[in-house]
Amino acid sequence: MTFESLGLNPQILKSLTEAGYTAPTPVQEQAIPAAIAGRDLLVSSQTGSGKTAAFMLPALHKLTDQPGEAPQGKTPNQAAQSARSRGERPRFKAAQPKMLVLTPTRELALQVTTATEKYGRGLRRVQAVSILGGMPYPKQMQLLSRNPEILVATPGRLIDHMESGKIDFSQLQILVLDEADRMLDMGFIDDIELIIGKTPETRQTMLFSATLDGMVGNMARRITRDPMTVQIASASTRHENIDQRVHFVDDLSHKNRLLDHLLRDASMDQAVVFTATKRDADTIADRLTIAGFAAAALHGDMNQGARNRTLNGMRRGQVRVLVATDVAARGIDVPGITHVFNYDLPKFPEDYVHRIGRTGRAGRQGTAVSLVNHAEGVHVKRIERFTKQVIPVDVVAGFEPKRTASAAPRRPGWRPGDGRKPGNSKPGQRTFSKPGNGPRKEGSGSRTFRSDGRSGEQRRG
Ligand code: ADP
Ligand code: MG
Repeated sequence: MTFESLGLNPQILKSLTEAGYTAPTPVQEQAIPAAIAGRDLLVSSQTGSGKTAAFMLPALHKLTDQPGEAPQGKTPNQAAQSARSRGERPRFKAAQPKMLVLTPTRELALQVTTATEKYGRGLRRVQAVSILGGMPYPKQMQLLSRNPEILVATPGRLIDHMESGKIDFSQLQILVLDEADRMLDMGFIDDIELIIGKTPETRQTMLFSATLDGMVGNMARRITRDPMTVQIASASTRHENIDQRVHFVDDLSHKNRLLDHLLRDASMDQAVVFTATKRDADTIADRLTIAGFAAAALHGDMNQGARNRTLNGMRRGQVRVLVATDVAARGIDVPGITHVFNYDLPKFPEDYVHRIGRTGRAGRQGTAVSLVNHAEGVHVKRIERFTKQVIPVDVVAGFEPKRTASAAPRRPGWRPGDGRKPGNSKPGQRTFSKPGNGPRKEGSGSRTFRSDGRSGEQRRG
């Protein structure tokens, strides 16, 4: 399959060649022709599978195919200027975008805008701007006054502009919700509904999400018409060379002892231990160091120098156990990492895939172990649905959990990573045995035994 055979505009094909894209990814192969034909789309595929181009290429193709409007009349900016020169007070004409892309975060919006500029380089008349929280207001007004064809925005700031009459969606043709599941997780549902309510019924809607289950699926059905569903689990993200396992634990003490035991596995070279919070990364790294491991923390509160030193230590093999948060460990590529441990489950199933991808690099075998409290079974299921793989449950002799997962009560309002009551995560209460010691009985020695109660908010690393 080639981009040519998808029927894209020659100028776009040229930009793709310049960008080094030789062939469409599977999600692009399916989405682009359908989108060009005007279909609504519901797409779920892994991160990095090329979703931006899957919606932006057909959109650019369609927008550039339309009869030119730019030469006619003046841009709103020029109109304002000539009004000023006539001594009149310029009136701001609302921007009338033809395409809107909603994204959960500023970073994503900027990525989409940058990609759009790359794909649309050779196209006159098609301009994309980002409207984001945190950007100075005059700058946004200036961007809107160019009346761009494509707006890329986070929901909150967009609504501010809509309410003050700066944006008029009556001409909107294409609506994209990028990372829709994440937007819903972040509580944007009402904002999204409000924005969609201001767009024409005739629009084309494309929704991209890691999953189409649950709330996202419900919203997707409400806002699309006869959508085509594209669901892709690509071979590279199936992680077939990674041995994945779940170990159930009764409480923190059990979790710490099991981690300590697994870190002494003879087949282990280097490991990354993922925690939900920066504070836990520090605490656990300190505890492991005291217990005799060459451990170090890596998280976003460390300055760049400290992060570089830690990463270099990891690359040189001086650090054997890196205790890290999701954000800090993103993209780490150290071939010696044989094991990944989820000390806390990630908040998003997508992050699970990023995490375990730190091992099994360059064609090697890897092991990914999740230490899971009984009540978290439902989140393991979510990860399994996302990866379309079952993760086997494993038990280490001497570390058997007292309860079985299915017998565990589910508490309402619980989220992954809430492994402790806030008051329970004091550094001094974490316990590890020294390497070389065998499994010990609950409550023996000076170890503190606590129940693994859960509540409180999770802070992301
Ligand atoms: P997603 O949104 O699915 O996570 P992106 O759209 O951000 O993925 O794309 C991931 C990376 O893949 C980007 O660096 C992008 O430039 C690149 N990419 C996308 N499509 C292709 C392609 N057909 N060939 C080569 N690289 C591609
Ligand atoms: Mg994306």
